[in-house]
Amino acid sequence: MTTLLIAEHDNKTLNPATAKTMSAASALQAPVDILVAGHNCADVAQQAAKLTGCQKIIHADAPHLEHHLAEEMAQVITALMEDYTTAITPATTNGKNFMPRVAAALDVMQLSDITDVLAPNQFERPIYAGNALQIVESTDEKRVITVRTTKFPAVEETGQADVELLELPEPKSVSQYVSENLSQSDRPELASASIVVSGGRALGSKENFEKYIEPLAQTLGAAIGASRAAVDAGYISNDYQVGQTGKVVAPDLYIAIGISGAIQHLAGIKDAQTIVAINKDEEAPIFQIADYSLVGDLFELVPQLQAALENR
Ligand code: FAD
Repeated sequence: MTTLLIAEHDNKTLNPATAKTMSAASALQAPVDILVAGHNCADVAQQAAKLTGCQKIIHADAPHLEHHLAEEMAQVITALMEDYTTAITPATTNGKNFMPRVAAALDVMQLSDITDVLAPNQFERPIYAGNALQIVESTDEKRVITVRTTKFPAVEETGQADVELLELPEPKSVSQYVSENLSQSDRPELASASIVVSGGRALGSKENFEKYIEPLAQTLGAAIGASRAAVDAGYISNDYQVGQTGKVVAPDLYIAIGISGAIQHLAGIKDAQTIVAINKDEEAPIFQIADYSLVGDLFELVPQLQAALENR
């Protein structure tokens, strides 16, 4: 009846999503071990060992695990699952990549994007772009779960679990890491930022996006986000997209500028604590969920807001 939590990390630092997934794992009412799989990631294993509720760290370290390729990760996790009832991981790009393989190998259905644990075998998850919540119950002997971490608080770091080195099978070597291009930014990461300033189609151009959204984000120490229309129009690259097919964010403050509030966009901001919307159309759907509504032309209101913040 033990749970295996697969840690999210970059071989140097444990991603905060892991501590949040630990909350979900603890709600399953079974002991939790954490798998830290990667290469030269002993520091990450030590960081994970501190998470409250962790019984043991299983540290899998090998060159072929460095980039968390789905085939290699799934092989390690599936083998470990002989001793575990549940595999659980954040619903990040990595988790969404390797977990379906684990579920297929174990011949069970995956419980994706859970937002609450109602009982050890009963879970809440959003459907229809977050417009409805579904309660699902699993009767499978083994459970494979990905967690929408914006819904769970991070556990504290009061633990001191032992770290056990795992003997690994031969690599599968059916896929190969080639390269990755990551956008470099001094700003907070969009998915975990406490303030997000997002721009929509109304900005009208890449230049306006840079002129109106970036300084505001800079002043507030915020991450930048965008609607799909803004991304499709080329105002900013698609890794800034917020929504159903973009990133799901849960900041303390979300400022939506020139964004109509289509359901696909709202699906990504439902867990924001406070939403401020600037839109010239008082009937815009974004105002139905906004805590503060500024009706007017963004090209006038944003500079005023900017000046007011700078004069604070
Ligand atoms: P618009 O809908 O064009 O809204 C622009 C808003 O700006 C309007 O409300 C207008 O009143 C206001 N405005 C115009 N000029 C000014 C001004 N000068 N000052 C102030 N306000 C002004 N969208 C996402 O964002 N994220 C997703 O992940 C996503 N996934 C999708 C998945 C699918 C399968 C589909 C079909 C669609 C998806 N979309 C997504 C697209 C979504 O349906 C909308 O088309 C998109 O969100 C609209 O972006 P927008 O609000 O910037 O543009």
